[in-house]
Amino acid sequence: MNVRVLGCSGAIGGGPDTAGDPGDPVGTTALLVDDDMLIDAGTGVAVLGDEALARIDHVFITHSHLDHIAYLPLMIDAVGDARAAPLTVHASRATLDILQAHIFNNLIWPDFTRIPSPEAPGVRFEPLETGERAVLGGRIVTALPARHAVPAAGFAVSSHTASLAFSGDTTTNPDFWSAAAALPGLRYVIVETAFPDAQIATAHAAHHYCPRLIAEDLRGIGLKADLLISHLKPPHGAQILTELRAALPGVALRALRAGEVLSV
Ligand SMILES: [Zn+2]
Ligand SMILES: [Zn+2]
Repeated sequence: MNVRVLGCSGAIGGGPDTAGDPGDPVGTTALLVDDDMLIDAGTGVAVLGDEALARIDHVFITHSHLDHIAYLPLMIDAVGDARAAPLTVHASRATLDILQAHIFNNLIWPDFTRIPSPEAPGVRFEPLETGERAVLGGRIVTALPARHAVPAAGFAVSSHTASLAFSGDTTTNPDFWSAAAALPGLRYVIVETAFPDAQIATAHAAHHYCPRLIAEDLRGIGLKADLLISHLKPPHGAQILTELRAALPGVALRALRAGEVLSV
Protein backbone atom coordinates (compact mmCIF):
# COMPACT_ATOMS: atom_id res chain seq x y z
CA MET A 1 0.00 0.00 0.00
CA ASN A 2 1.30 3.45 -0.91
CA VAL A 3 0.32 6.75 0.65
CA ARG A 4 1.06 9.73 -1.58
CA VAL A 5 1.07 13.15 0.04
CA LEU A 6 -0.90 15.54 -2.20
CA GLY A 7 -0.95 18.35 0.35
CA CYS A 8 0.06 18.69 4.00
CA SER A 9 0.37 22.41 4.68
CA GLY A 10 -1.51 24.46 7.25
CA ALA A 11 -2.30 27.08 4.60
CA ILE A 12 -2.22 27.74 0.85
CA GLY A 13 0.37 29.92 -0.87
CA GLY A 14 4.03 29.70 -1.78
CA GLY A 15 3.49 30.01 -5.54
CA PRO A 16 5.14 32.35 -8.07
CA ASP A 17 5.66 35.91 -6.96
CA THR A 18 5.57 39.03 -9.09
CA ALA A 19 9.39 39.24 -9.19
CA GLY A 20 9.51 36.01 -11.21
CA ASP A 21 10.45 33.60 -8.41
CA PRO A 22 8.65 30.34 -9.33
CA GLY A 23 8.13 29.59 -5.66
CA ASP A 24 7.06 26.30 -4.18
CA PRO A 25 3.27 26.13 -4.06
CA VAL A 26 1.72 24.25 -1.14
CA GLY A 27 -1.73 22.76 -0.68
CA THR A 28 -3.76 21.77 2.34
CA THR A 29 -4.35 18.27 3.67
CA ALA A 30 -4.96 15.43 1.23
CA LEU A 31 -3.39 11.93 1.25
CA LEU A 32 -3.92 9.52 -1.65
CA VAL A 33 -3.90 5.85 -0.59
CA ASP A 34 -2.99 3.67 -3.60
CA ASP A 35 -5.04 5.22 -6.39
CA ASP A 36 -8.58 4.76 -5.10
CA MET A 37 -8.77 6.16 -1.57
CA LEU A 38 -8.31 9.68 -0.30
CA ILE A 39 -7.87 10.86 3.27
CA ASP A 40 -9.14 14.43 3.42
CA ALA A 41 -9.78 16.52 0.33
CA GLY A 42 -7.97 19.80 0.91
CA THR A 43 -6.47 21.92 -1.84
CA GLY A 44 -3.64 19.39 -2.34
CA VAL A 45 -6.12 17.47 -4.50
CA ALA A 46 -5.50 20.12 -7.19
CA VAL A 47 -2.39 18.21 -8.34
CA LEU A 48 -4.52 15.28 -9.63
CA GLY A 49 -5.65 15.02 -13.24
CA ASP A 50 -9.04 13.92 -14.54
CA GLU A 51 -8.23 10.20 -14.71
CA ALA A 52 -6.67 10.12 -11.26
CA LEU A 53 -9.68 11.92 -9.80
CA ALA A 54 -12.10 9.51 -11.46
CA ARG A 55 -10.28 6.48 -9.96
CA ILE A 56 -10.99 7.61 -6.39
CA ASP A 57 -13.84 5.54 -4.93
CA HIS A 58 -13.56 6.41 -1.23
CA VAL A 59 -12.84 9.64 0.65
CA PHE A 60 -12.25 9.58 4.40
CA ILE A 61 -12.86 12.99 6.00
CA THR A 62 -11.28 13.79 9.37
CA HIS A 63 -13.46 16.84 10.02
CA SER A 64 -15.47 19.54 8.33
CA HIS A 65 -12.98 22.43 8.29
CA LEU A 66 -12.49 23.94 4.84
CA ASP A 67 -8.78 23.15 4.57
CA HIS A 68 -9.73 19.44 4.70
CA ILE A 69 -12.83 19.42 2.47
CA ALA A 70 -12.35 22.28 -0.03
CA TYR A 71 -12.00 19.97 -3.05
CA LEU A 72 -14.63 17.40 -2.02
CA PRO A 73 -17.64 19.16 -3.57
CA LEU A 74 -15.62 20.17 -6.63
CA MET A 75 -14.22 16.69 -7.33
CA ILE A 76 -17.66 15.09 -7.13
CA ASP A 77 -18.86 17.43 -9.84
CA ALA A 78 -15.69 16.99 -11.92
CA VAL A 79 -15.82 13.19 -12.12
CA GLY A 80 -19.57 12.65 -12.28
CA ASP A 81 -19.69 11.78 -16.01
CA ALA A 82 -16.65 9.50 -15.76
CA ARG A 83 -17.94 7.34 -12.91
CA ALA A 84 -20.61 4.65 -12.87
CA ALA A 85 -20.83 4.46 -9.06
CA PRO A 86 -21.16 7.19 -6.44
CA LEU A 87 -18.12 8.40 -4.53
CA THR A 88 -18.34 7.09 -0.95
CA VAL A 89 -17.53 9.59 1.80
CA HIS A 90 -16.60 8.01 5.13
CA ALA A 91 -16.70 10.16 8.27
CA SER A 92 -18.39 10.33 11.65
CA ARG A 93 -22.16 10.82 11.59
CA ALA A 94 -21.59 14.27 13.14
CA THR A 95 -19.22 15.31 10.33
CA LEU A 96 -21.49 13.91 7.61
CA ASP A 97 -24.40 15.88 9.08
CA ILE A 98 -22.31 19.07 8.93
CA LEU A 99 -21.38 18.41 5.28
CA GLN A 100 -25.02 17.81 4.40
CA ALA A 101 -26.29 20.90 6.23
CA HIS A 102 -23.58 23.36 5.25
CA ILE A 103 -22.09 22.21 1.91
CA PHE A 104 -24.46 19.86 0.07
CA ASN A 105 -27.47 22.00 0.91
CA ASN A 106 -28.40 23.26 -2.58
CA LEU A 107 -27.14 26.71 -1.54
CA ILE A 108 -23.37 26.40 -1.29
CA TRP A 109 -23.33 23.34 -3.58
CA PRO A 110 -25.91 20.96 -5.07
CA ASP A 111 -27.05 18.07 -2.88
CA PHE A 112 -25.12 15.35 -4.70
CA THR A 113 -26.54 12.74 -2.31
CA ARG A 114 -29.69 13.09 -4.47
CA ILE A 115 -28.24 14.34 -7.77
CA PRO A 116 -28.34 13.25 -10.62
CA SER A 117 -31.03 11.09 -9.00
CA PRO A 118 -31.73 9.65 -5.55
CA GLU A 119 -31.24 6.16 -7.04
CA ALA A 120 -27.89 6.99 -8.69
CA PRO A 121 -26.35 9.89 -6.76
CA GLY A 122 -22.89 11.40 -7.17
CA VAL A 123 -21.96 10.75 -3.56
CA ARG A 124 -23.05 8.49 -0.74
CA PHE A 125 -22.31 8.95 2.95
CA GLU A 126 -21.02 6.07 5.09
CA PRO A 127 -20.73 6.74 8.84
CA LEU A 128 -17.48 5.62 10.51
CA GLU A 129 -17.12 6.37 14.20
CA THR A 130 -13.97 6.45 16.33
CA GLY A 131 -12.71 2.92 16.88
CA GLU A 132 -14.57 1.51 13.88
CA ARG A 133 -12.84 0.05 10.82
CA ALA A 134 -13.56 -0.07 7.11
CA VAL A 135 -11.98 -2.92 5.15
CA LEU A 136 -11.49 -2.12 1.47
CA GLY A 137 -9.65 -4.57 -0.77
CA GLY A 138 -7.63 -5.98 2.12
CA ARG A 139 -6.67 -2.55 3.40
CA ILE A 140 -7.98 -1.52 6.80
CA VAL A 141 -8.90 2.07 7.66
CA THR A 142 -9.49 2.70 11.37
CA ALA A 143 -10.98 5.91 12.79
CA LEU A 144 -8.79 7.23 15.63
CA PRO A 145 -9.60 9.67 18.46
CA ALA A 146 -9.08 13.41 17.85
CA ARG A 147 -9.88 16.50 19.90
CA HIS A 148 -10.55 19.57 17.77
CA ALA A 149 -12.84 22.59 17.57
CA VAL A 150 -15.44 20.56 15.66
CA PRO A 151 -16.21 16.82 15.66
CA ALA A 152 -13.01 15.20 14.40
CA ALA A 153 -11.14 11.94 13.90
CA GLY A 154 -7.76 10.72 12.80
CA PHE A 155 -7.31 7.69 10.58
CA ALA A 156 -4.96 4.75 10.45
CA VAL A 157 -4.36 2.75 7.28
CA SER A 158 -3.05 -0.77 7.73
CA SER A 159 -1.84 -3.44 5.34
CA HIS A 160 -1.21 -6.98 6.51
CA THR A 161 2.21 -6.03 7.84
CA ALA A 162 2.35 -2.31 8.56
CA SER A 163 0.35 0.74 9.62
CA LEU A 164 0.39 4.49 9.19
CA ALA A 165 -1.49 6.68 11.68
CA PHE A 166 -2.65 10.21 10.88
CA SER A 167 -3.81 12.51 13.66
CA GLY A 168 -6.07 14.79 11.61
CA ASP A 169 -6.38 18.13 13.39
CA THR A 170 -6.14 17.70 17.15
CA THR A 171 -4.91 19.21 20.36
CA THR A 172 -3.71 17.35 23.48
CA ASN A 173 -4.86 13.81 22.82
CA PRO A 174 -3.25 10.91 24.73
CA ASP A 175 -5.91 8.53 23.35
CA PHE A 176 -4.57 9.05 19.82
CA TRP A 177 -1.08 7.91 20.83
CA SER A 178 -2.27 4.83 22.69
CA ALA A 179 -4.52 3.86 19.77
CA ALA A 180 -1.64 4.40 17.33
CA ALA A 181 0.79 2.39 19.47
CA ALA A 182 -1.62 -0.56 19.39
CA LEU A 183 -1.66 -0.72 15.57
CA PRO A 184 0.13 -3.65 13.91
CA GLY A 185 3.57 -2.73 12.57
CA LEU A 186 3.25 1.01 13.15
CA ARG A 187 5.72 2.53 10.66
CA TYR A 188 4.71 6.20 10.37
CA VAL A 189 2.78 8.67 12.49
CA ILE A 190 1.71 11.83 10.69
CA VAL A 191 0.85 14.38 13.35
CA GLU A 192 -0.22 17.96 12.96
CA THR A 193 1.68 20.78 14.62
CA ALA A 194 -0.02 23.97 13.57
CA PHE A 195 1.60 26.44 15.96
CA PRO A 196 4.98 27.14 17.62
CA ASP A 197 5.17 27.18 21.41
CA ALA A 198 4.97 30.99 21.50
CA GLN A 199 1.39 30.60 20.29
CA ILE A 200 0.37 27.95 22.82
CA ALA A 201 -2.66 30.02 23.83
CA THR A 202 -3.83 30.00 20.22
CA ALA A 203 -3.15 26.27 20.00
CA HIS A 204 -5.39 25.72 23.02
CA ALA A 205 -8.10 28.04 21.69
CA ALA A 206 -8.09 26.54 18.18
CA HIS A 207 -7.63 22.97 19.42
CA HIS A 208 -4.35 22.33 17.65
CA TYR A 209 -0.98 20.97 18.76
CA CYS A 210 2.17 22.94 19.46
CA PRO A 211 5.51 21.18 20.21
CA ARG A 212 5.17 21.41 23.99
CA LEU A 213 1.75 19.72 23.94
CA ILE A 214 3.01 16.85 21.75
CA ALA A 215 6.00 16.34 24.05
CA GLU A 216 3.68 16.12 27.06
CA ASP A 217 1.52 13.52 25.33
CA LEU A 218 4.54 11.45 24.26
CA ARG A 219 6.20 11.39 27.68
CA GLY A 220 6.62 7.76 28.69
CA ILE A 221 5.62 6.42 25.25
CA GLY A 222 8.51 4.71 23.49
CA LEU A 223 7.53 5.67 19.95
CA LYS A 224 9.07 3.23 17.45
CA ALA A 225 7.65 4.87 14.32
CA ASP A 226 8.89 7.82 12.28
CA LEU A 227 7.14 11.05 13.27
CA LEU A 228 6.14 13.13 10.24
CA ILE A 229 4.91 16.64 10.93
CA SER A 230 2.02 18.13 8.96
CA HIS A 231 -0.20 21.23 9.03
CA LEU A 232 2.76 23.56 9.59
CA LYS A 233 1.72 27.17 9.11
CA PRO A 234 4.25 28.29 6.45
CA PRO A 235 5.82 31.25 8.31
CA HIS A 236 6.46 29.13 11.41
CA GLY A 237 7.54 25.79 9.90
CA ALA A 238 11.26 25.97 10.70
CA GLN A 239 10.60 27.25 14.22
CA ILE A 240 8.10 24.48 14.95
CA LEU A 241 10.54 21.80 13.77
CA THR A 242 13.37 23.26 15.85
CA GLU A 243 11.14 23.22 18.93
CA LEU A 244 9.95 19.66 18.27
CA ARG A 245 13.52 18.36 17.91
CA ALA A 246 14.49 20.02 21.20
CA ALA A 247 11.41 18.68 22.98
CA LEU A 248 11.67 15.14 21.60
CA PRO A 249 15.33 14.09 21.67
CA GLY A 250 15.84 10.63 20.22
CA VAL A 251 12.62 10.67 18.21
CA ALA A 252 13.03 10.34 14.42
CA LEU A 253 11.03 13.30 13.16
CA ARG A 254 10.89 15.52 10.09
CA ALA A 255 8.42 17.60 8.14
CA LEU A 256 6.05 15.68 5.89
CA ARG A 257 6.60 16.75 2.27
CA ALA A 258 4.03 17.22 -0.47
CA GLY A 259 4.73 14.78 -3.30
CA GLU A 260 6.42 12.10 -1.22
CA VAL A 261 5.15 8.51 -1.22
CA LEU A 262 5.16 6.44 1.97
CA SER A 263 5.14 2.67 1.65
CA VAL A 264 2.99 0.86 4.23
ZN1 LIG B 1 -9.39 21.90 11.62
ZN1 LIG C 1 -6.75 21.91 9.33
